[in-house]
Amino acid sequence: MQKKRILSGMRPTGKLHIGHYVGALENWIKLQDEYQNFHLIADYHVLTTHLNTDDIYQNTIEMLIDWLAAGLDPEKSPMFRQSQIKEHTELHLIFSMLITLSRLQRNPTVKDQLRYLHIKQVIYGHVGYPVLQSADILLYKGDAVPVGEDQVPHVEITREIARKFNNQYGNVFPEPEPLLTKFSRLPGLNGDAKMSKSLNNTILLSDAPEVVKSKLKKAVTDPQKIRKGDRGHPDICLVFSYHKKFNTDEIPEIDAGCRSGKLGCFDCKMNCAEKISSFLEPIREKRKYYLKNLDIVKDILTDGEKRGREVAQKTMADVREKMMMG
Ligand code: SF4
Repeated sequence: MQKKRILSGMRPTGKLHIGHYVGALENWIKLQDEYQNFHLIADYHVLTTHLNTDDIYQNTIEMLIDWLAAGLDPEKSPMFRQSQIKEHTELHLIFSMLITLSRLQRNPTVKDQLRYLHIKQVIYGHVGYPVLQSADILLYKGDAVPVGEDQVPHVEITREIARKFNNQYGNVFPEPEPLLTKFSRLPGLNGDAKMSKSLNNTILLSDAPEVVKSKLKKAVTDPQKIRKGDRGHPDICLVFSYHKKFNTDEIPEIDAGCRSGKLGCFDCKMNCAEKISSFLEPIREKRKYYLKNLDIVKDILTDGEKRGREVAQKTMADVREKMMMG
C-alpha cells in the first residue's frame, strides 16, 4: 500500500534554532518512516518579509545542512526549493481565483504575523500567503501537514480550496488534515512567547557550548527570584521550559529546588546550558561533515528538485486536464 503523503516546509532565513527543532524538525524526523515526506524550502515565501535576496542561496544551504544534521534523510524525503519548481506559482495563480479576499483577510495567522513582525504596510503577499501555501501542499497531493496549533487555520484554507477546485472541475486533490506537533513552542531567551531570529532571542543548533552558556546567562527568569535563597516560580520561567524539553530526568528536583530557594538561577542556567549542549553535540558534528562536503549538500538539493518536479508536473497535468486547458 502506498504511504500517505505529507508536505512540510520552512522559509530559508539561515541557520535554525532549537525552537525550529522542537516546533517542527523533531516531528518531521519521527514522521519520515511512516509517511512519504516532501520537504519544501519555501524561498518565495521569504519575499513576504525580505525583498533583498542576496543571502537567499546561502541561507538555503545553511538550513539544508541543519535539516540533514538533525536527522532528515534525503533518500526518504526529497528536499527542494519552491522557486525551482515553477508549478508552485502556476497552481497558486489558479487557486487565487477560488478564494475570496474577505476569507483571506479573516485568517487569524496573517493578523498575528502582521502584529508580531510589526508590519505596517500590508502587501498582497501577506494576505495571499495561505494561497501559495495551499499550492505547495496540494501540488504534492499532501494527505496531511505537520503543523503547530497556530498554523491550523492555514490548513483549513487549503482544505477549502481543495474542495472548491474538486467541486468546480472534478476530483484532483485530497483535503489534507493537520498533524499537530505536541511540543510546539519554546519561548525566546528574552521572555518572548517564541524564539525568532529577528528578535535575537535564540539558541542555534550550531551554537558551540560556550555560546549556549553565555546566551543562557542572559536569559530572563522569574523576576521575583533575585538571589539564591529567594523562592521562585518555575512555571513562569523560560529556563524551566527548556529543562522540560532537554533535561526531563531532573524536572522534579529543579522544580523543588527553585520553589524552596535552595537552587539559584545561575546554577540552574548552567545545568540547562550543559544539557542543551550535549543534545546539540551530534548535530554540530554532522554539520561539520556537511560543511566540509558542500558538493554532497548541493547534490541532495538537485536530486530532491528532480524528484519533487516529477510529482508536481504530474499534478499540474491532472489539473489542466480537468480544467480542459491541457
Ligand atoms: S531556579 Fe531555574 S527554574 Fe527557578 S527561576 Fe531560576 S532559572 Fe528559573
